[in-house]
Amino acid sequence: MVALSAHAAGWPLVRGGSQGLAAALAAYLRELGGIVETNAPVSSLADLPPARAVLFDLTPRPLLAVVGAELPAAYRRRLAGYRYEPGVCKVGYALAGPVPWLAAACRQAAVVHVGGTLAEIAASERAAWQGQHAERPFVIVAQPSLFDPSRAPAGRHTLWAYCHVPSVSTRDVSDLIKTRIERFAPGFTDLVLAKSARAAAELAREHPNFVGGDINGGVRDWRRLFARPTASLTPYATPAEGIYICSSATPPGGGVHGMCGYWAARTALANELAR
Ligand SMILES: Cc1cc2nc3c(=O)[nH]c(=O)nc-3n(C[C@H](O)[C@H](O)[C@H](O)COP(=O)(O)OP(=O)(O)OC[C@H]3O[C@@H](n4cnc5c(N)ncnc54)[C@H](O)[C@@H]3O)c2cc1C
Repeated sequence: MVALSAHAAGWPLVRGGSQGLAAALAAYLRELGGIVETNAPVSSLADLPPARAVLFDLTPRPLLAVVGAELPAAYRRRLAGYRYEPGVCKVGYALAGPVPWLAAACRQAAVVHVGGTLAEIAASERAAWQGQHAERPFVIVAQPSLFDPSRAPAGRHTLWAYCHVPSVSTRDVSDLIKTRIERFAPGFTDLVLAKSARAAAELAREHPNFVGGDINGGVRDWRRLFARPTASLTPYATPAEGIYICSSATPPGGGVHGMCGYWAARTALANELAR
């Protein structure tokens, strides 16, 4: 979904930072009379007020931890078999200037996929799936401050990048990421003012939904592109009355496009109005 929309319309960046998107959605919800509560971890249905429908923005493993007891055993088993992708190691940089990419087009791109050759990309992705750290990782680099001056003081820049690493990896591979960018943008290292890195295991600890550091809600092979999290015509509804899933573990999968939530809401409305 992300790749399709990026190719069709470009890679969207939220002015002022991605927090602005969540803030805008929350403001709209409040306008409609909704209430937003944060810092409120939910460990069972008992933590929630009574409701006809509850939509969980969770992938199967954390979902099972919260509502496993409410679900029939056969469905629980199917969710338990859901597979996750490798994790990511993510690094954010403060830079003294724009990245001096050798390729001019990259100096004007919101996101650069630093892959090298096709063989290098394949080797890097294969390594993560096989539980190894690639020496030349395939790196995704976003350079938002090129388009949004509010992201950094005048003349300075911000950049974030990540690459796949084995699930639950505790290794900080930001030096490999830096070397990879330097290879295609000589002089990059000298621009680094500060960095903040997160290993996959840290991401998973901070975000329970990112199981093992998988930021895209589980495997996206041909089958799981559609059969998310299980093969069903209404994948957003669980067999338990009033319990729905609206996360990236439902179609059309990971990415900040909102369509999982949209279709989950449509399903919940249709089901609950019919009851
Ligand atoms: C570094 C990085 C860069 C990315 N870049 C892009 C990009 O450029 N474009 C793009 O489209 N996508 C991008 N993604 C992917 C995208 O962010 C995810 O696919 C998407 O956020 C997943 O959405 P989700 O609805 O499944 O759940 P999440 O966004 O993971 O939301 C789940 C929410 O549930 C909360 N939660 C979890 N457990 C509990 C609990 N027990 N009780 C209460 N609350 C709980 C979490 O705190 C979180 O707020 C990126 C992800 C990362 C990490």
